[in-house]
Amino acid sequence: MSSHDLSSDKTDVAANLAEIQSNINTACKASDRDPKDVTLVCVSKNHDADHVRKALVDGRRVFGENRVQEAAGKWPGLRAEFPDIELHLIGPLQTNKVKDAVALFDVIETVDRPKLAKALAKHRDKTGTCPDLFIQINTGEEEQKAGIAPNDADDFIKMCREELDLPIIGLMCIPPVDEEPAPHFTLLGKIADRHGLKIKSMGMSGDYQAAIRFGATHVRVGTAIFGSRGY
Ligand SMILES: *Cc1c(COP(=O)(O)O)cnc(C)c1O
Repeated sequence: MSSHDLSSDKTDVAANLAEIQSNINTACKASDRDPKDVTLVCVSKNHDADHVRKALVDGRRVFGENRVQEAAGKWPGLRAEFPDIELHLIGPLQTNKVKDAVALFDVIETVDRPKLAKALAKHRDKTGTCPDLFIQINTGEEEQKAGIAPNDADDFIKMCREELDLPIIGLMCIPPVDEEPAPHFTLLGKIADRHGLKIKSMGMSGDYQAAIRFGATHVRVGTAIFGSRGY
């Protein structure tokens, strides 16, 4: 990012990470789960490389970005320093950016429509490469939000796996901001179970502990690690 966010400089990333890990451990203990089964995806969008590096120096290796272009500016350099990074795309992907996204990301969490699934399959057929994929479910059926409607999820998951042979390994959701997230976490879990999908990406800064109690394997946390994003 070109603009320098002074407020984020004061954020103690290592202290935040320690606190979040402790909260993750507590939530796991309360639900009889192994903390090793919960991956903290550090959401670094809108923070510059120097700020993000603090989490890398602290030992974190799994990161999430929501825009291809921003990730392309920041991550090749960070990867050169820390080669074992796992980068997740957690924002909407346009089909004309598939090539760039596949080159940059290890996981795409936001497969959300047939056109994108087909573009990923076509690219895979041409190049032999495809990242691990999660399907985004619009559990709240919100007009403005990306994702497959819950009623269409079964057909879409089947199409991706059986017709297109895509490496679908999990599901992802972003519950509506103004609602209790628990029913959304439960719904995502039910759809995942029906398809034998073990990976569930759900829970953000405000609700990751609840998400873990509902079976999240990946929590996507930004603000609680890096501080507020200066938009
Ligand atoms: C920004 C973002 C997050 C992180 O949100 P915080 O509230 O800052 O933790 C998680 N998931 C997605 C899809 C996002 O775009």
